[in-house]
Amino acid sequence: FAPWADPQSKPFISFRNITKKFGDFTAVDNLTLDIYHREFFALLGASGCGKSTLLRMLAGFERPTSGEIILDGQDIAAIPPYKRPVNMMFQSYALFPHMTVESNIGFGLRQDGMPKAEIGERVQQMLKLVKLEQFAKRKPQQLSGGQRQRVALARSLAKRPKVLLLDEPLGALDKKLREETQFELMDLQQQLGLTFVVVTHDQEEAMTMADRIAVMSHGKVVQVATPAEIYEAPNSRFVADFIGDVNILEGNVKAAGNGRVELAGGDFTVRAVSDAAPSVGTSAAFAIRPEKLKVSRTAPADPAVNTSEGEIWDIAYLGDMTVLHIKLPSGKVVKTSMLNAQREVENPIGYDEKVWVSFAETAGVVLRD
Ligand code: ATP
Repeated sequence: FAPWADPQSKPFISFRNITKKFGDFTAVDNLTLDIYHREFFALLGASGCGKSTLLRMLAGFERPTSGEIILDGQDIAAIPPYKRPVNMMFQSYALFPHMTVESNIGFGLRQDGMPKAEIGERVQQMLKLVKLEQFAKRKPQQLSGGQRQRVALARSLAKRPKVLLLDEPLGALDKKLREETQFELMDLQQQLGLTFVVVTHDQEEAMTMADRIAVMSHGKVVQVATPAEIYEAPNSRFVADFIGDVNILEGNVKAAGNGRVELAGGDFTVRAVSDAAPSVGTSAAFAIRPEKLKVSRTAPADPAVNTSEGEIWDIAYLGDMTVLHIKLPSGKVVKTSMLNAQREVENPIGYDEKVWVSFAETAGVVLRD
């Protein structure tokens, strides 16, 4: 499933040069973004980056200051929220406390004037979908947090929208329930064949659920890619830093071209496979994830390249893995991580020990300043 990679496929939702201003504050800044039919799409970013505003414009709760939103081939600017084939799922505390589960689920259908028998049938389908058949007559406060969340989901799906919008949908749940619910949402999205657009500030949540992620900052999209691409090939320091842990190795560009870049002047002489073509003499950085740094007691074959000596500074045992902080000759500390299942148990590395840190030339990405 990768419609975005197929030049033949048309986007289902297109934001075209969308700007949203509140007074003279720009919340969304000339943003262009395509989302495909049946995609599970995540808008990810820190608080205030404009992700909810973008979602609210798609729902029709906010009007863009300029730009167009095209949905299924149609400009939706003039369509009121309730007529858009889009529905927003709110957190479970938005359920009506005095109504039973089934009345909550049927609420939007009653408002639309759907015949009673049809509502009954649709509500039954929805209860079945979210596995709450036995709870139809209960009130929200008689349910667990996870069950309430499923009622909120059933309510937002009852009108059979083509696009479901979810704004921090799992924010009210504890970690374990969040994880379970993430998988339920993914299953449901597959089963129904809908397009889901989720807003979250939680990178793990976005990585788990989404086909693609748009990383946002200050009202703009910084990178749109699959979770693996975002993690393995961040396009900027911002994304590298925002998603997961990263070591940034600074240097001056000594050579670049033919798919290779060499940086010098830092703790490492970096020789990397990279299509980035920074100018010779400028400063650049090599971004490498902790698990891609190798730590050993013996010097690698070519200690002049992609290698530095170091000293163990900190050791953190996290159960599934061990994180080592290693101090390099310049005083810079890098972070490495190793799965405990792959660790040599007999002779573990200890504090203050001298080690070699090295990496493969494809292990990270070159970022321009
Ligand atoms: P969060 O995760 O905290 O909800 P967000 O990325 O979803 O953040 P938005 O809610 O889209 O951010 O808000 C983006 C910016 O626009 C914020 O700085 C916010 O204060 C501002 N903003 C949002 N709505 C309004 C409004 N109605 N009037 C004025 N400013 C607003």
